[in-house]
Amino acid sequence: VTADASAPPPTFGVDIGGTNLRCAVVDAQGGVIERRRLPTPVEFDDIVQTIASEIGELAYTHDDAGSVGIGAAGMVDFDGVIHYAPNVPAFVRAPLRARVAEATGRAVVVDNDANVAALAELLYGAGRGLTDFLLVTLGTGVGGGIVSGGKVYRGAHGFGAEIGHFQVDPDGPMCVCGERGHWEALASGRALGALGRARARAGRAPSVLALANGDADGITGVHVGDAAQSGTPDAVAIVRDYAFQVAVGLAGLANVLDPAVIMISGGLVELGALLLDPMREWFEGHIEGAKQRDAIPIVPAKLGDEAGIVGAAALARAADAPHRP
Ligand SMILES: [Zn+2]
Repeated sequence: VTADASAPPPTFGVDIGGTNLRCAVVDAQGGVIERRRLPTPVEFDDIVQTIASEIGELAYTHDDAGSVGIGAAGMVDFDGVIHYAPNVPAFVRAPLRARVAEATGRAVVVDNDANVAALAELLYGAGRGLTDFLLVTLGTGVGGGIVSGGKVYRGAHGFGAEIGHFQVDPDGPMCVCGERGHWEALASGRALGALGRARARAGRAPSVLALANGDADGITGVHVGDAAQSGTPDAVAIVRDYAFQVAVGLAGLANVLDPAVIMISGGLVELGALLLDPMREWFEGHIEGAKQRDAIPIVPAKLGDEAGIVGAAALARAADAPHRP
C-alpha cells in the first residue's frame, strides 16, 4: 500500500457513551477506515486504559494516524475534564484529556459526544452548507449539539447545549441527573419505556406486553418501538404520545435558537415516520408564530451512530494541539 504523500493523515476518533465505547481511524474526508466497538468500562482508569490499548492496536496498522479526538457523554470543559455525566458514573471531575494524552503520548482533544456529532453533521452530513442548526440525539438519554454561526456552541465553560436538562414539568418524572421533570425524563428512550410500562399496567398495551413476555415491569422502549413498527394500534398510540413529549421540547428550543433545520439522531430515529410525523405535526402547530412563519424542517441526521467517531476525529484534526480553546 502506497500512501498519498499529499493527503492529510488520518486521525483517531473515540466515542464514549453510557453503553458502548467506539474507537476508529478516520480519514480527512470523514471516511471511517477501521472501527472497533466494546462495552464502556465502569471505572475511569479502565476507560483510559481501554482507549489507550485500542488506539495502540489501531496504530499498529495505521502508523500515519496522529491526534486523538474524543466525544464523551457529559459536561466537558475546555481542558477535556469531564465534570459530570448522568449516564457514565465514572466521570466525576475526570481529567480524560490529560490521562489519555499521558497514556498514548499523543495530542488529545475532548468534547461532549453530541457536540462532536453536530460537528460531523456540519462537515460531512445533513448540516453541510448550513450555519445554524440543532442536532438532537434521542437514545438512552437525550443529547444535543447546537451549531450557531457555523460553529459548535459550547458556552462559557464548555457545558452548553445540555438540552435534555431543562425542566418542562416540575411535577414530572425524575431525571437521571436528580431533577424532576427535565425534558430528558420525558423524551429519552427510557421515557418511551416508562410510557409503555404505565400503559401496560393499565391494561392498554397488550401487544407491547406480549413482546415483553407478559412482564409489564420488563418493558423497555425497544419493546414499544418494535411493537409500533409491527403496526399494533396500542403501541403506535404510545409512540404518538411520546412524539408529543419530544415535540414540546423541540418547539421551546426552536423558539430560543431559530435553527434552519432540526436533525434527529440516536436509536429512536429508527422509528421513522411513526415518530417523526406526529412530532412534526405538534411542533409546527406550537412553535411561536406558527401561522405566520415557514416550518422548520425536522429531518433524520445523516451519519447515524458513526457521527460520534467521525466528529471526534474531525475535532482532533481541527485542534491538532493538546490544549484548547
Ligand atoms: Zn436532568
